[in-house]
Amino acid sequence: MSGRLSGRRAIVTGAGSGIGAAVALRLRADGARVFTADLQGEVDFRADLTEPDANARLVAAACQAMGGLDTLVPCAGISAFHPLEAHDDAYFLRVLEVNLVAVFRLVREAAPHLKGHGAGRIVTIGSTTSSFGDEGLCAYSASKHAVLGFTKSVAAELGPFGVTATCVQPGAIDTPMTAPAFEQMPEYKVFWENKAPLRRLGRPEDIADVIAFLCSDDARFVSGHGLWVDGGAMARH
Ligand code: NAP
Repeated sequence: MSGRLSGRRAIVTGAGSGIGAAVALRLRADGARVFTADLQGEVDFRADLTEPDANARLVAAACQAMGGLDTLVPCAGISAFHPLEAHDDAYFLRVLEVNLVAVFRLVREAAPHLKGHGAGRIVTIGSTTSSFGDEGLCAYSASKHAVLGFTKSVAAELGPFGVTATCVQPGAIDTPMTAPAFEQMPEYKVFWENKAPLRRLGRPEDIADVIAFLCSDDARFVSGHGLWVDGGAMARH
């Protein structure tokens, strides 16, 4: 298939749902081959990516299926609202394991493959809470701040090998992750709809389209960058 990502071979995690599913669709529409991973659902590789060897197995399976790898979009993530004093150690560590440690392991395992091409791409998923905090989101915000910092360091380290690393920071996006919170706290949904100057929640496609750009040759000189994709919400006081 021809397209601006023709010839690219990508891993997308969290591809069974929400943003990851939209990213897989969009990259394919642009001509990329995509190897999908998630805990469950219609994906190529099903695993809990916090298992210590899961990311190494994922990279090996993807390289075998596609004959190599140049693009990485780790979208798997978890979030839930917990007041600080309700965060037990296990929950806090679980959020860091899924949202940060699994991303670190995937990037580490994929790096030797991405370095070979002169056009390697890593697009991590941060959040507006990579730059700000929010009530009830201590663990999540800590993990997403860390993902942004991690991405900047990866950009510094892998840049000399032709690999870019960027961090997309979505605002409030209508996905299965946010649906329970919006159902339980309708005022929270209205808050985010009104905070964005574009006056709506984001859709998974809003994020996927930006990620496809960052994976493409058009973004060849963009690296080490966190990019809010939030309808302008964070620009407003
Ligand atoms: P989603 O619809 O819940 O998708 C996340 C996917 O990751 C789910 O399929 C989930 O599986 C999977 N996953 C969770 N833990 C995993 C694990 N240990 N191993 C493998 N897969 C795992 O959520 P989303 O809204 O699309 O979120 C995608 C990314 O965007 C996340 O990193 C999230 O933090 C980020 N983000 C989302 C928003 C938003 O407003 N939605 C805003 C900012 C950033 P299960 O469903 O089976 O748990």
